[in-house]
Amino acid sequence: MAVVETEGLVLRTYALADADKIVVLLTKDDGLVRGVAKGAKRLKSRFGSSLEPFSVVKVSYFRKEERELVSITGIDLERSFFSVASNPYFLQHFSYAAELLQSFAPPHDPNERLFNMTKVCLETAAYKQEAIPAIVAYFEIWLLKLGGFLPSWEMCSNCGRSPEESESVGLQPDFGIVCKNCTGRGGGQPVSPAQRALFLRAQKASPEKFILFADSLEGELEEVSRVLGRMISRILNREINNSGAKVSASG
Ligand SMILES: [Zn+2]
Repeated sequence: MAVVETEGLVLRTYALADADKIVVLLTKDDGLVRGVAKGAKRLKSRFGSSLEPFSVVKVSYFRKEERELVSITGIDLERSFFSVASNPYFLQHFSYAAELLQSFAPPHDPNERLFNMTKVCLETAAYKQEAIPAIVAYFEIWLLKLGGFLPSWEMCSNCGRSPEESESVGLQPDFGIVCKNCTGRGGGQPVSPAQRALFLRAQKASPEKFILFADSLEGELEEVSRVLGRMISRILNREINNSGAKVSASG
């Protein structure tokens, strides 16, 4: 039995028998963790408000090798997003992001970059709520990239050439792109230079810089988000639901 102490982000909780709760966290040092918080349903629980979704916490728990569910011994709140989480718009988008993390992040497989990226996205969204769609697109791009799922839009998947910045390219069924010279061979849905620029910029900038870049490109961002939704649905083999924030992912 190992004792683990790490930073974590509360993704969700659900009630268990008696007074207990199951807490799902993305942790910095141990990946996705599901744990039992004993007595957490009691009004005066020692866990207090640290179990609210999106709380950044210091968590400690016992972990037995053969069991996925850990036994939480302590959670201390480091940062709460409680006030911003009362905004339904924030709640909807980040509940979706939390759902994606639960699907993509492997249990007990640490990915510090994923943890830090998620935390920075939350922090940026908390003070720049009007940029939430751009931040969620940024989050999706990085979630796919860190999972090894993100296609390269740097070069044509047919001839290997890097398209010019001003060049429209064509989306392929595998979500790669082909350059304008190769689109005649079945280019698929056009990807505009601005859409491609958004996709590439997200991979090189902080969320803060990215939302400045995306600020004047609302329509293009929506289109990129739709493509990302389709990629994610394909990988998870099911429709994902960002409750209307994203148009149907089946298209
Ligand atoms: Zn080409």
